[in-house]
Amino acid sequence: AMVATRASDERGTAQQVDVAVVGAGFAGLYLLHRLRKAGFSAVGLEEAGDVGGTWYWNRYPGARCDIQTIDYSYTFDPELEAAWTWSEKYATQPEILRYLGFVADRYDLRRDIRFKTRVTEARWDEASERWLITTDSGAPVSCRHYIMATGCLSAPKPPEIDGVKDFKGEVYFTGRWPHDGVNLAGKRVAVIGTGSSAIQSIPLIAEQAAHLTVFQRTPNFALPAHNGPPPLDRMSLLQSDRATYRAQARQSMAGVPYPQQTVVSWQLSDAERRERFERAWAAGDLVHILTQLWADQAVDVDGNKIVQDLIREKIRAAVKDPETAAALTPHDHPFGAKRPCLDTNYYATYNRPNVTLVNLRQEPIKAITASGISTNGRSFDLDVIVFATGFDAMTGAIRAVHPITGRGGKSLSDVWAQGPQTYLGLTVAGFPNFFMITGPGSPSVLSNMAVSIEQHVDWVVDRLAALRDAGFTTIEPTETAQAGWGRHMTDCSMLTLHRLANTWYTGANVPGKVQGLMPYTGGVGPYRSICDEVVSRGMLGFRLT
Ligand code: FAD
Repeated sequence: AMVATRASDERGTAQQVDVAVVGAGFAGLYLLHRLRKAGFSAVGLEEAGDVGGTWYWNRYPGARCDIQTIDYSYTFDPELEAAWTWSEKYATQPEILRYLGFVADRYDLRRDIRFKTRVTEARWDEASERWLITTDSGAPVSCRHYIMATGCLSAPKPPEIDGVKDFKGEVYFTGRWPHDGVNLAGKRVAVIGTGSSAIQSIPLIAEQAAHLTVFQRTPNFALPAHNGPPPLDRMSLLQSDRATYRAQARQSMAGVPYPQQTVVSWQLSDAERRERFERAWAAGDLVHILTQLWADQAVDVDGNKIVQDLIREKIRAAVKDPETAAALTPHDHPFGAKRPCLDTNYYATYNRPNVTLVNLRQEPIKAITASGISTNGRSFDLDVIVFATGFDAMTGAIRAVHPITGRGGKSLSDVWAQGPQTYLGLTVAGFPNFFMITGPGSPSVLSNMAVSIEQHVDWVVDRLAALRDAGFTTIEPTETAQAGWGRHMTDCSMLTLHRLANTWYTGANVPGKVQGLMPYTGGVGPYRSICDEVVSRGMLGFRLT
């Protein structure tokens, strides 16, 4: 009786809506738009001060997308597409943030979003068949459906190094960069990490700083972006038949309209392979080089090694000091099994006299001290430390809402104790009316996220409307369906080379995180077909009440 009273009290003061959407990034914005059009009342709950998600938080120098911007855009409204023109092949963070603000204005979305509001807890109430969402600011929310559009790369990983608090200089995180920028001129700066954010920011930080010291644990493969205006060949392909171009992206493996290669490496001569590689290198296109060289590059160790060797040659040619070149050259993972990066002058930056690379494999960091960083052997006096140490990917933001309590008082973190279990990466057994956009078990981070986000949002909103129109109030996957999806995930992943790399795709970057490949590797097009088939077969694997 006590519990029931508390629940009804909270409901009394709670904001009542059909759907609560957590997050106002690419996904949350589109969700709010679609939900409103489908006749649902919805509220967006967003920790940040404005819309944008990834592009709100990541304001470090050099932050850009690395999927061509004409592909990394909303496609749901041709008029929106006509109303916006990207200035670059790979737009900068400020331009993408302006775009998302433009979208929010165009569809008047901000009026339904509560900013500076972090969701702290969510509880399914079996009696009322509603979720009760607790926030750190303002009224709780009572809703029929709870959708987490909280982002795959939105929970920055805390530093693993002791002593950060002792450091007397300035400390920044690339994923939480100050809005007013940072003046690095004349300063001794350290960047810790050599993932995508580091690789994008290091060349620009090196231009400003008196001295830059880069602390590297694992080298990454980086490819030249060759940024500039949107390339004419892709633009004319898009403009000559927009509908077909977008349809092909939706059916493709990675969410970018490239054909699937059928030629395998051993059918090509050395010269033919080199020619394909040089063309891909010159294109400055991540998806091109990941998918268009030869069909076995992502599934066969030998087919992959050929690409690795060709890229290693490029690194050796770009970096003058052989020892630095060797340290920058990856040897511990297949190309593509860890997220490769696009760069502008990354390798060449190490030829500057004011840049030092510290190879943490040889001299690990011992401590951060009041004056800088000391390794096994040296100490570095610093004014600024930049952590480019990445994210608790895919599950970090979901698990940060704690507890999420489903049927029978079970919490999501208990259900996921051995790693995330989902049906289609969208739903979890025991958690009715709960959805994740680009959740673990969906293609998400292995794809052009814009395409994957639109597919998830469309699927979820269409299902909610169909459910309502048929008079159902709850939807929940069965344990059997969820177990089957887990098997299918594993089967697909065994065809890839992801098992040979310790990465944020597998949870290896976060100490203590359960290991397992989190994204679905079967491809964007096949995944969409499966989601559609689930619907056409009468919501296969779901229980509706
Ligand atoms: P996000 O943009 O991460 O938005 C999630 C929002 O949820 C955030 O604003 C966060 O504050 C909010 N939130 C989370 N938890 C809570 C809570 N408990 N309460 C309230 N609010 C909460 N993808 C590509 O496809 N191509 C690219 O080129 C590309 N480049 C990237 C570059 C960087 C630097 C990063 C970090 C990511 C990049 N990505 C890229 C991935 C990118 O995250 C997605 O493309 C996309 O922006 C994700 O949108 P989203 O709405 O799903 O999540």
